[in-house]
Formats: sequence, structure tokens, C-alpha cells
Amino acid sequence: MENLSKRPTITGDLQNVFNYAFIETASYHFIVPKPEKYISVHMTDKINHCMDCGNDLKVQYNENGLVYIANNRMEKQKKLYEKYHLQLPKLGEENFTYFQDGYCAICAQNHIYNQSKGQDVCNACMELNQLDEGLMINAQDLIEKVVHTWIYRIKSKDELKNLDLSTYLAIRELICGVIFGQKDLLDKILQVYQSKVAEKKILIQSILDEIATPSFAGYVARPTTVYETMDDNLYNEYTVVFPSESTPEENFYVLKEVEKNRVAMFLGQKRIESVDELLSETIFSDIWIEWLMQHLNNLK
Ligand SMILES: [Zn+2]
Ligand SMILES: [Zn+2]
Repeated sequence: MENLSKRPTITGDLQNVFNYAFIETASYHFIVPKPEKYISVHMTDKINHCMDCGNDLKVQYNENGLVYIANNRMEKQKKLYEKYHLQLPKLGEENFTYFQDGYCAICAQNHIYNQSKGQDVCNACMELNQLDEGLMINAQDLIEKVVHTWIYRIKSKDELKNLDLSTYLAIRELICGVIFGQKDLLDKILQVYQSKVAEKKILIQSILDEIATPSFAGYVARPTTVYETMDDNLYNEYTVVFPSESTPEENFYVLKEVEKNRVAMFLGQKRIESVDELLSETIFSDIWIEWLMQHLNNLK
């Protein structure tokens, strides 16, 4: 099991590949922005404007001075400001609010089904991404329940009298042993996950095969907490903006051009295949040790 500080690898990489295909598709590339290709602005926040209900979902950005926005992006910004009858800030003088239109999470439900094959791929891939996330949530919940049940079944200190509880590591080993003893429960949720994933992959591949172009458009849910680059082709320290840390995570659906080969990459990316891999990606919570010590203190 991992400590919080270590990044889970299979799950982390899988999410990165999903983001690369659907969310923030630019690659890191360091260049000093040339003045003829970029406009520098003081970008403070973003408005996600729903084209259906008209609500605005606002995101505050971390303020780190100037952000370089590619000229073609700025042209699109000007058109959006015009379309929504907004006054464009004086560039270089006034703070700039980045404008994005799309659909809020509620309205999106009326605009992403029965639209196009490309949209169907996006929907199914978002569902696959949720299955991947769901496996980790379910596994983490399960092991926490296993630990909880084991602790509160201890009726007297005598039950542990032959066990070493003298150090953090010893207690941790003991709790891990309890979890490893319930591997068959983890195996069940892994099997359910694997069969759903297999089904979803076949569905996605069959729709992909019907799309003749190398890329297609579709609405994808972009979490409000994800960084954003102001250049379609690259991101680096100059072009990227980060939502402030207090930003609540909400999805806003934006139109993306999705590349087929990146979808294939997401489908082919390694997923968790065994209970041991699953266990190695879960997180050991120190609160379990506190539960145990407290419970033992309360016992006679
Ligand atoms: Zn608005
Ligand atoms: Zn809406």
C-alpha cells in the first residue's frame, strides 16, 4: 500500500492519458513566447457560460503575473466577447477574464446524447474514465470497511496480546495483514470492473471504426480544477493558468477536437490487472492506527 505522498502509478498514468486525449491536449514545450505570436494579459479569472440555461460558472485563477495568450486564441476570445455583447478589457491595461462557452453539467445531459458518433465516443470514454476512478474509490472504501470491522470486533486487549504493537511500522504491518486476508473481496470488485471495462472498450472501438476522419468533435467534461494553457499546441510556464486552490471541482462541458489515435492510446493504456496491483495503488490511512489505539484504550 502507498503513502499519500507517493503517486499511484497505474491509476495516475491512466488519468494523464485520459487528460491528454480529452481535456488538456497540448504538450509541454518550453519556448519564450515571441511578441508577434502572443499577447500578454493579466488573467484573473474565467467565465464558463452555459449556452442553454445562461448560467455562468466562474473560476478564479492563481495570480502569477502575466499570461501569454496565443493570437488565434485571442481572436476567438474577441469573437466570444462580441457574441455575448461584452466589453473587451483594454489589453495590457485591464485584468482579462477568459471566456468559455459550453454546457453546464445539468444542461449537458440534453446535448450529448444521440448527437454524433464522435460524441458517442466521448461519452463512452468519459464513462470508462469513471469506471477507472470508481475502481479505486470502491477498493479504498472496501479496505477501510475491512479495517473498521476488524478493529471494532476486538472485544478485549487479550486478543492482541501476542502481537507487536510497539511501533508505527509494526501496527501498520498488522493492519496490512488484516487487509491482505480479505483479498477475495477485492478480487470480486476487480472482476466486476474488468468485465465492464472490456464491454466498454469493445463499444468504443466499434464506434471508432465507423469514424473515417483522424479526429472528430465532441463535448467533454472539463473539471474546473484543471490547469489550462492559452496556446492550442503547447503549454509551458508562460501560457498556463491554474485555478486557485479553493476552486470547487465541477464539470463544464466544452467542445473539443479529439484525435482518434489518442483515444486508441487511452483504450490501450495499462489498467489494473490483479489484486496485488490494486492493493499497491490504494492508500494506507494513518487514521486507522488512531482508530485501533483509541479502541484499545477504551477496552478494559
Ligand atoms: Zn453569461
Ligand atoms: Zn446550463
